[in-house]
Amino acid sequence: MKKPARPVSLELRASHKKDIAGNIVEIKWADGSTSASTAFFLRMKCPCATCREKKPSGVAPHISVTAYGWVGNYAVQLFFSDNHDTGIFTYSYLKELDESTGGV
Ligand SMILES: [Zn+2]
Repeated sequence: MKKPARPVSLELRASHKKDIAGNIVEIKWADGSTSASTAFFLRMKCPCATCREKKPSGVAPHISVTAYGWVGNYAVQLFFSDNHDTGIFTYSYLKELDESTGGV
């Protein structure tokens, strides 16, 4: 069985110098891998009940993640610049998203 994914760090980065920090979310995993996803991608994949029911629309492509918080030891909550903060991204979901896209 695969060991559960566990992040060792999470950083909010800018993809370009002129961009606002937080439009890229970079996660370093305990297995040594790194994943990087755009805030926009993560926002579109938000796992909260509202977004699962109705796919987010009208999300600006330059959206960023302004803050985050660890939830227990299984997930991270992302605070998006459109004031959406109900998404609790489990480690395994984040890892799955990264593996499905190969990152940015
Ligand atoms: Zn949501």
